[in-house]
Amino acid sequence: MTKDQLLTRLLTRRGALLTGAAAVGAAGAAGVLAAVTGEPVRRALPAAGPKARRALQPSAYRLQPLTGYGPPRTAPGRPLVRREPFLRVSGRGRFMVLTFDDGPDPRYTPDILDTLAEYDVRAMFFVCGEMAADHQDLLARMADEGHVVGNHTWSHPLLTRLSRARIRSEMERTCDVIEHAYGERPLWFRAPYGAWNRAAFQLGAELGMEPLAWTVDTLDWTTPGTRTIVGRVENGAAPGVVVLSHDAGGDRTQSVRALRDYLPRLLDSGYHITVPRRQFT
Ligand SMILES: [Zn+2]
Repeated sequence: MTKDQLLTRLLTRRGALLTGAAAVGAAGAAGVLAAVTGEPVRRALPAAGPKARRALQPSAYRLQPLTGYGPPRTAPGRPLVRREPFLRVSGRGRFMVLTFDDGPDPRYTPDILDTLAEYDVRAMFFVCGEMAADHQDLLARMADEGHVVGNHTWSHPLLTRLSRARIRSEMERTCDVIEHAYGERPLWFRAPYGAWNRAAFQLGAELGMEPLAWTVDTLDWTTPGTRTIVGRVENGAAPGVVVLSHDAGGDRTQSVRALRDYLPRLLDSGYHITVPRRQFT
């Protein structure tokens, strides 16, 4: 391949990612503009966090990408009770967050951790307590390698059908096993199936966790094919985007392979893969 051909290929690849970013829509407009113009995004992105009224309060904090290494070591205290989950992260630069749900699963999680280690990037794992209890060594590895572990309930139920007491138990037991295996209580919570309710927001806040959803759903659990998963990530790529994938819950071979493909491409395109940080502003 000549130099020109190589350059064309790189530009085409980058162009494809930027086109995908533009397609994310209005909610991502501020982040996309920042990537194109290089201007910093200082405000919390719309629809993700607190209402504007709340954002002005000194106690309100917003999400920012973590540019350092390792998970935050100090708990910032009890968060506000949200009315909707965060859908993306704000901050300067081309940051994206990769999240893996429902694990850990010894058949797939180690492969994902290997790929993340190969490219020296940190991700988030929203674990289920019953999986974490059986595979505590994988949570210890996540801690060692600087990944962030979030709470995805004990048994992955539809929270909207549970009593408040059951929801509390699902969340609390999972916090306990995470603390035991990972070394810290989780700062993030994600409702199974993205089905949130008031009790989930209230109890999550009570347990010191912020609700984090996602911007781009790879739908990898439908096993649509590795290429389709890669395409969904690349088409959805934009600053502040949170990507949802799974490292358990079925055959996740495609998810494992897709990561090996899209991660180096995202990095080549100038994206920084990071984990969010809770920060008081
Ligand atoms: Zn899930």
